[in-house]
Amino acid sequence: MGEARAVLVTGGSRGIGRGICLELGRLGYAVAVNYARRRDAAEEVVSRITAAGGQAVAVQGDVALTDDRRELIEKTLQDFGRLDVLVNNAGITSPGRKDLLEATEEGWDLVFGVNLKGAFFLSQLAAKEMIRLIRQERIPDGKIINISSISAYVVSTNRADYCMTKAAMGMMTKLFAQRLADERIRVYEICPGVIESDMTAPVKEKYDRLIAEGLWPIRRWGYPSDVARAVAAVVSDYFPFSTGDRINVDGGFHIRRL
Ligand code: NAP
Repeated sequence: MGEARAVLVTGGSRGIGRGICLELGRLGYAVAVNYARRRDAAEEVVSRITAAGGQAVAVQGDVALTDDRRELIEKTLQDFGRLDVLVNNAGITSPGRKDLLEATEEGWDLVFGVNLKGAFFLSQLAAKEMIRLIRQERIPDGKIINISSISAYVVSTNRADYCMTKAAMGMMTKLFAQRLADERIRVYEICPGVIESDMTAPVKEKYDRLIAEGLWPIRRWGYPSDVARAVAAVVSDYFPFSTGDRINVDGGFHIRRL
């Protein structure tokens, strides 16, 4: 167990995933930076980590595809010899943000494929590898971190499929947490609020206004680094007697008030 612990971050090329890769690289993790299409962006993340003396590799793969998921795990194991942490971060918003009454099956399949099916079956594959590595005493324990959203419990009627995938991710977290606790693998849901990224760029002005009006108590945008620091706390074992938990990174948005 002399070498660096290894993490696979899906959708690590941009936004929140990128922030998580950089933070875990700083913590000494060997980082598999997954991307779907933006090789350039993934390579930029890799160079930043390696320039600072860390280890990282860019790995292409669409998490919605069975063969790609298997390759992602295999490539991480080939490159780093171990897998200690999986971060299910890759996600897409609802195509065209169509009203609930106009939402399409194509949109449903796309969003559920990436956000939920991808995360579920990648967790299954990663968990099996982690169990094998733990039994062989090649890693001490494992962690799976799911990046869900405030959309898990807040309705947006123009992103129904997205909201439903994120709601299901909360249950998915608990299911894996229960099943894997005896295997020394802990599972967490991190629930970001509105975070500055390419995903939220099209709605920037709307949120600038709502933030100024006090939509959540801490009146600023969230940044990928805010989410990354929560991931860092989890992987650094600051929650040793917790599993299946939701950790909010939302400026207090979840607080109901009168
Ligand atoms: P983003 O800026 O749009 O970045 C998306 C990332 O996911 C990119 O790295 C992209 O890779 C990758 N990706 C997309 N489809 C993929 C697929 N099929 N397979 C593998 N990778 C794929 O998004 P973000 O805002 O950082 O969001 C990241 C996660 O946080 C998502 O799960 C999102 O739902 C969640 N979240 C975001 C916010 C927010 O306000 N931004 C709030 C709550 C939760 P390429 O670079 O190759 O395209």
